[in-house]
Amino acid sequence: MPIPATPFIWFNGKLVPWEKAQVHVLSHALHYGSSVFEGLRAYETPSGVAIFRLKDHTRRLFDSAKIYRMQIPFTPEEINEACRQTVAANELAHGAYVRPVAFRGYGEIGVTPRNEPPIDVAIAAWEWGKYLGHESEEQGVDACISSWQRVAPNTLPALAKAGGNYLSSQLIGAEARRLGFDEGIGLSPDGTLSEGSGENIFVVRDGVLLTPALAHSVLGGLTRDTVIRLARERGLEVRESAIPRELLYIAEEAFFTGTAVEITPIRSVDRLPVGSGKPGPITQALQAAFFGLFSGKTRDQWGWLDYVNMSPRPRAAAAG
Ligand code: PMP
Repeated sequence: MPIPATPFIWFNGKLVPWEKAQVHVLSHALHYGSSVFEGLRAYETPSGVAIFRLKDHTRRLFDSAKIYRMQIPFTPEEINEACRQTVAANELAHGAYVRPVAFRGYGEIGVTPRNEPPIDVAIAAWEWGKYLGHESEEQGVDACISSWQRVAPNTLPALAKAGGNYLSSQLIGAEARRLGFDEGIGLSPDGTLSEGSGENIFVVRDGVLLTPALAHSVLGGLTRDTVIRLARERGLEVRESAIPRELLYIAEEAFFTGTAVEITPIRSVDRLPVGSGKPGPITQALQAAFFGLFSGKTRDQWGWLDYVNMSPRPRAAAAG
């Protein structure tokens, strides 16, 4: 299903009508993958619509840009406010997926032209349901280890959420779906577990929560960080380490984390059931803690919820 059109997209400093947010076919990013981006969710909470970990996502956007020596022509505060504005102007009162992207735009052609192309910045937001299907959060998904590995250190930096990295994700995700799985898991070049095509991975063994450390070609996921903090707060032991592939086959529980998939149990890997083949108690407890942040059952002691002022604004002013 194509992305549902909303009234506005924030584009280079102002809200413009959806169909006006366009770039030239000779934009640098389209040819060379030179974009950095974020994916955020806004949730409907009892106190109003809130964007989850907005400031942390914006920080990662600027970190990704710094790694690629891209100068985003806005401050982080301006990007934060633009994200809030985009959700408000589109009246996304029931929550949304928010997609900021900054990229090398139209200018000189060439991989590293003498004159840097301008950096364009856009932010779109739209209503979006469950990424891996409605039932996945309750039932779990079937995953496989991909024949494609994640990028090696000192090739493409995995900590940068850059457009070009998602060629690796496309190979891993498409292979998995072609073979009848819901999602593929990439190994890092040393053969240990890395991450899914668009999500981090956790494994439970002997009641301990394990996730690949940042050196294993993973994105530093904000949902990953959220789960680590929620787990430790609940007295669970969490280890960030190197995880052998076969630990997945003998794990008691496993799950993916990400803004899109939230916390999605993995019920099988390479057609072997994970544990009982049903979401386990630790996964379910962490799901409850996570979704409790948005229902109000889990206290937001970290200030992760960034509320959006949804008061209706006149259309003409918003478009100006
Ligand atoms: N790894 C990859 C490759 C991703 O694309 C994502 C989604 N941004 C994640 C992990 C999870 O990150 P987050 O929890 O910040 O969405």
